Amino acid sequence: MSKIPTRIYLSEDEAPQYWYNLRAVMKNKPAPILHPGTLEPVTAADMEAIFCKEPVKQELDDTTKLIPIPDGILDFYRAYRPAALIRAYYLEKALGTPAEIYYKFEGTNTSGSHKLNSAGPQAFYAKEEGLARLTTETGAGQWGTAMAMAAAFYGIELTVYMVKISAEQKPYRKAVMETYGAEVYPSPSDTTDAGRRILERDPDTYGSLGCAISEAIETAMKSDKCRYVLGSVLNHVLLHQSVIGLETKTALDKYGIAPDVIIGCAGGGSNLGGLIAPFMGERIEGKNSIRFVAVEPASCPSLTRGRFAYDFGDTAKTTPLIKMKTLGNGFIPSSNHAGGLRYHGMNSVLSQLFEDGLLEARSETQNDVFEAAVKFSKVEGILPAPESSHAIKAAVDEALECKKTGEKKVILFGLTGTGYFDLSAYMQYNAGTLSDRVPTDDDLAEGFASIPDIPQNR
Ligand SMILES: *Cc1c(COP(=O)(O)O)cnc(C)c1O
Repeated sequence: MSKIPTRIYLSEDEAPQYWYNLRAVMKNKPAPILHPGTLEPVTAADMEAIFCKEPVKQELDDTTKLIPIPDGILDFYRAYRPAALIRAYYLEKALGTPAEIYYKFEGTNTSGSHKLNSAGPQAFYAKEEGLARLTTETGAGQWGTAMAMAAAFYGIELTVYMVKISAEQKPYRKAVMETYGAEVYPSPSDTTDAGRRILERDPDTYGSLGCAISEAIETAMKSDKCRYVLGSVLNHVLLHQSVIGLETKTALDKYGIAPDVIIGCAGGGSNLGGLIAPFMGERIEGKNSIRFVAVEPASCPSLTRGRFAYDFGDTAKTTPLIKMKTLGNGFIPSSNHAGGLRYHGMNSVLSQLFEDGLLEARSETQNDVFEAAVKFSKVEGILPAPESSHAIKAAVDEALECKKTGEKKVILFGLTGTGYFDLSAYMQYNAGTLSDRVPTDDDLAEGFASIPDIPQNR
């Protein structure tokens, strides 16, 4: 067989034409999403008050395995995909490992991460439905940037509520969103009741994701022509992200490469769910015995230390109830530079796979993660996002284990984004001032107390 190239590219013809819905092959499906008022499974009509119609249909579909990607979305994907699958020859050499390491890099688009893979479809469906505007929130800024790009592509208006502290600390993110034509309000703002209420109580607040979500949902619900979009956690977002896994699988199959372990960082679970989808499907069908590993920050350990329970998706307790691994909607993680991983819960598919022993999880502290990031950037030439670097850390550990045992494992990980908007975090790491605060059991107990007390089995 010919030597495996450093970058495996796919042609446009080889790009996936459908998304992979892992729920269709799962034996234990995730529990139904519940209406918070009635505690009955939500209907499409319930969800359509907030979200666009087609994503709602996808959210509730756990039987269709392959869902065709509409031409209008394939067009969007062609502007920046397929993404290369990279053989980490230089990292392997630096580690002196007999293992083969591969990574799928999602950071080449301007938004800098995989989030564009779901932003595109969500803007497309909104346009098809005849909506005029979308609203969303953004914390660290990656999702808002991706949505701004997608909204510009499809010609739909976008309002972004950006957590105030983030808007102040990352003015460049805000500038990118505004360049693409989005309206960006630091949250809390005086444009909504929710925002005004909080400002009255605490005019100097830094804002929070929970508050930004409330403002975005309130604005969406005020108009028939406006809906709300979310960038992670929900099943339709994982579905859109399956393009990552499908492309990866085609690239590996071309060269007859069979991964032994697949690793991804996990915030709400969308990149990991998308990367593993077709591989996990085959594992459930008995066709492989791949290990799957989720990596989360030790400061926000929903899989490794959370409860498996029905909980709200947001701090303001406005969303439907999702059965998931959760630290409690009221859990406030200590400041951590992997902003995209600071979420209290985990997507319900990944949570169920974890409960069923099909998905492993581990957590990492910031300094170890940045050490791996720097090691990686020096040899592979890519400065990774702090979130992505959680996966690098776990992949490096797997490779070093192989060095001890002499095993020639094939390790695959998802490199979700670039670190160009996170340079203040790198500055702190370089200065030795990054903290590694891990929540105590008492901290966790406070978060668990916010989980609603409702019957868990249904
Ligand atoms: C948002 C984000 C993540 C985490 O989100 P998931 O939904 O868990 O994938 C990871 N990496 C980057 C670069 C992000 O922007």
